[in-house]
Amino acid sequence: MALKERLVDESDKVTELVCSRCGMIAIHDKRRNVDYCSVCGSDTEIYPVEMSYAFKLLLDEIKSLGVAPRLILEDAV
Ligand SMILES: [Zn+2]
Repeated sequence: MALKERLVDESDKVTELVCSRCGMIAIHDKRRNVDYCSVCGSDTEIYPVEMSYAFKLLLDEIKSLGVAPRLILEDAV
């Protein structure tokens, strides 16, 4: 809990949408006010996930190398 507070809550916390089917970062379309996954479309479960901006940046850099990082979502205990 202390590590989460120092490294996320009191630091560079961002909330990203994640597709639960494929694990990729999802997109929010402001014009239509819908969330969708660029891989699965809009017929999938999409959840907001809190992470540090540094981790989001790492995911973006891995994607720029042609590798698709996937987040496996589970219920918080
Ligand atoms: Zn997806």
